[in-house]
Amino acid sequence: MRDLSAKRIVIKIGTNTICKEDGTVDREYIASIARQVIELEARGVQSIIVTSGAIGSGSTELGLNGKNKDIAMKQACAAVGQTALMLSYREAFTKYAKLVGQVLITYGAFSDRKRYLNLRDAMDRLFKLGVVPIVNENDVIATDEISDVFGDNDKLSALVAAKMDADLLVLLTDVDGLFDRNPEADPDARLIPTVDEITKDIERMAGKARNDRSVGGMRTKISAAKIAMQSGCNMIIVHGRERNVILRVVEGEEIGTLFTAKARYTNKERWILFSCPRGKLIVDEGAERALRNGKSLLACGITKVEGSFGKGEVVRIGGFAKGIVSFSSAEIAKMIGGCADGSRTNSNGNGRAVADSSSIVILN
Ligand code: GLU
Repeated sequence: MRDLSAKRIVIKIGTNTICKEDGTVDREYIASIARQVIELEARGVQSIIVTSGAIGSGSTELGLNGKNKDIAMKQACAAVGQTALMLSYREAFTKYAKLVGQVLITYGAFSDRKRYLNLRDAMDRLFKLGVVPIVNENDVIATDEISDVFGDNDKLSALVAAKMDADLLVLLTDVDGLFDRNPEADPDARLIPTVDEITKDIERMAGKARNDRSVGGMRTKISAAKIAMQSGCNMIIVHGRERNVILRVVEGEEIGTLFTAKARYTNKERWILFSCPRGKLIVDEGAERALRNGKSLLACGITKVEGSFGKGEVVRIGGFAKGIVSFSSAEIAKMIGGCADGSRTNSNGNGRAVADSSSIVILN
């Protein structure tokens, strides 16, 4: 048995798991999820559901399965499918006199501190009200903040888990876990029960994304694992169609692949780690050494400012760190000029700390 002792979990359900063969939302399946969430609640475990299936089921409802879809068409599918999804969740939880709340988010919500705090407040309030949050990406508007236009819900669920202080992320998918070889092609492929570190070997095993109705393959699940592990959150990839799978995972039964949580970062450090950087500060060797020794970043160590950002935003520092800046890009650009006499301070203020040591995270 595994000792997971989770108090707050994020359950991510993939498109191929939540949709039936014919592409419509599987209401019986959602009913089984609701039953398990209610059971967990009785044991003092809170759940957040991250659901996929909006584009997939919308495409079916619109009779567009198998047809090529441009971005606007996929967005239209998401708009239609999202209502089908939510209706099914609502119906399933009504049986237990439980309300669900629809939370549609974009990746931008994780880079903009104000929007992130809004999200946290709203989620906390939903918990206080006893409402189960059902999260999906807001595919209808998510076009410019992420690569490939639509993100994948694997990464989204990991960010939700990290930002909402979950201890366990369960990815319900249509395979049993991570295998050392492709189980569809190789009958000798073996399931890996535990991963403590994402090595090159693990990334190789993850291979490529597989089919076109879902966005994520194993590769995106490994990216999600990196985020979860760094956030002190265990993550499990498991077959979503196993009976009582969520309850069994939470009880510690050894099914699926467990990615073990690393040391917890502080909230602020996690914020820095998972925010999209707004710009970059190029620094000299002395500054890099100082930062690696836990010192603040002084303006005199900066050689170049890239991008346009405001005070309080997260930026990349060289290729090795990220941090929150105390000045805007325009202000920093004025401060960084060198000093003719070689001293560390000049009248531009280049001896001042541009990023405090407590606002810097070393990445590698
Ligand atoms: N947000 C997409 C949807 O609901 C799914 C993304 C994914 O499968 O990872 O259709």
